[in-house]
Amino acid sequence: MKGVLFDFDGTLTRPGLIDFMAIKRAIGCPPEMAILEYIRLKPNKERSSLTEILEVHEAKAARLAVPNEGAKACLSTLRKKRIPTGIITRNSLKSVVSALRQFEGITCGDFHAIITREGISPKPSPEGVFKAAESMGCLAEELMVVGDFRFDVIAGKRAGAMTILLTNGERSTMLPEDPMPDYMCRHLGEVVEIVLDTITSP
Ligand SMILES: [Mg+2]
Repeated sequence: MKGVLFDFDGTLTRPGLIDFMAIKRAIGCPPEMAILEYIRLKPNKERSSLTEILEVHEAKAARLAVPNEGAKACLSTLRKKRIPTGIITRNSLKSVVSALRQFEGITCGDFHAIITREGISPKPSPEGVFKAAESMGCLAEELMVVGDFRFDVIAGKRAGAMTILLTNGERSTMLPEDPMPDYMCRHLGEVVEIVLDTITSP
């Protein structure tokens, strides 16, 4: 294992800031359906107005974002150990840049890859994991993908990466038909321990 690829919302940021159910209500998306996939099904004109509503919610959440517990310590430990890190998110680049301003001592430049929804198939597609691996100078199977939602684990597994499901002390979001994550952690501190145990020294 050579690098760590983090989901953003609810993984590096404190969970619960984006109210996905409120967004779904606002755009008429059925509760069981994923937001981006719902919007994608709509005709062009409607798609752009629904995207605008989504972006208003995301921008607000990004302004209020706070680093998740242990996130800053986790990122600075990995930086000190020269372990490449990346971000993979279904959110927009604008939201990530805005939210990262709340991370004192951490900047966009600390990440070897920032993969957002623009121009790629979002998770659970493995496309972004492959793209991140390329930017991080390793193979997808040399990555540890860390995230708080089932799509993170599915995308990581489809790309052949190792995966950690971060539960933040809540119930797992995995469904019975999903692939099992390699590890489950309650806290980012545990993620660092696993990464340091499994890392291949350069
Ligand atoms: Mg998440």
